[in-house]
Amino acid sequence: MYADLHLHSRFAFNTSPALTVAALAAAAARAGLGLIGSGDALHPVWRAELCRDLEPAGGGLYRLRGGAGPLVMATVELSTVFRKAGRVRRVHHLVHLPDLEAAAALAAALDRFANLAGDGRPIFKLDARELFARVLDAVPEAFLVPAHIWTPWYGVLGANSGFETLEDCYGDLAGEIFAVETGLSADAEMIRRVSSLDRCRLLSGSDAHGLANLGREATAFDLAAPGFAAVRRALAAGEGYRGTVESFPEHGKYHWDGHRACGVRVDPAAEAEGPCPACGRPLTVGVARRG
Ligand SMILES: [Zn+2]
Ligand SMILES: [Zn+2]
Repeated sequence: MYADLHLHSRFAFNTSPALTVAALAAAAARAGLGLIGSGDALHPVWRAELCRDLEPAGGGLYRLRGGAGPLVMATVELSTVFRKAGRVRRVHHLVHLPDLEAAAALAAALDRFANLAGDGRPIFKLDARELFARVLDAVPEAFLVPAHIWTPWYGVLGANSGFETLEDCYGDLAGEIFAVETGLSADAEMIRRVSSLDRCRLLSGSDAHGLANLGREATAFDLAAPGFAAVRRALAAGEGYRGTVESFPEHGKYHWDGHRACGVRVDPAAEAEGPCPACGRPLTVGVARRG
């Protein structure tokens, strides 16, 4: 199953007005996605639309009311701007929530720190560690994935306003992080070279601001029973995690790593697990694995 957990609603800054719940579900199905993030789950109007247009599908996930289509997980991207170690830091964080009730609880807990009814990706003038602590206080099962970690601005390891390590940003809570988002400009091997990320699995998402970009990057899972807890476990412990993929819209399908000519990337640990589900050819051994 291919998942795109990083996307936005029409309530986020600079996004397409076409981003409704039904349109997102239809575009995700066209892109071959089995699971998408809701995006912007703290925005009150968007959350109301999610509750109106989706129905529970088990395990804390949802799908379009009365229809088929992809599963939906409650997600939100949070933006922080704060001073630490003498510099202004701008870091984005993806927060994954066990259901929409948890999204409502988190919104209530964070409401006084940001304008949640403004940008669907709300901006907090809070230290990232403090914000993460407040997220865990409100929703203990929630998990945070640093977003597009190499982006010069807004990535936790970005050159312009980021840090050297996850620990420098999240302090004692860095140990709670078990996955990082690669972002469009980074690749898995580049990330593997940073030893502080060795324990993290990679998540890849489109960060779509319009329907056409949905699923341009995705993460592959093989879950017996898809649900919030199963996705969390896959990212935390590797059970059912199959790696990151890039889509090729002209083919309408995804390719696994090992077909490097196609520009595909995958977690080396997941590489040996079987043939490419798209074309059935065996996977080749990646550079990181040989090294
Ligand atoms: Zn971002
Ligand atoms: Zn985003």
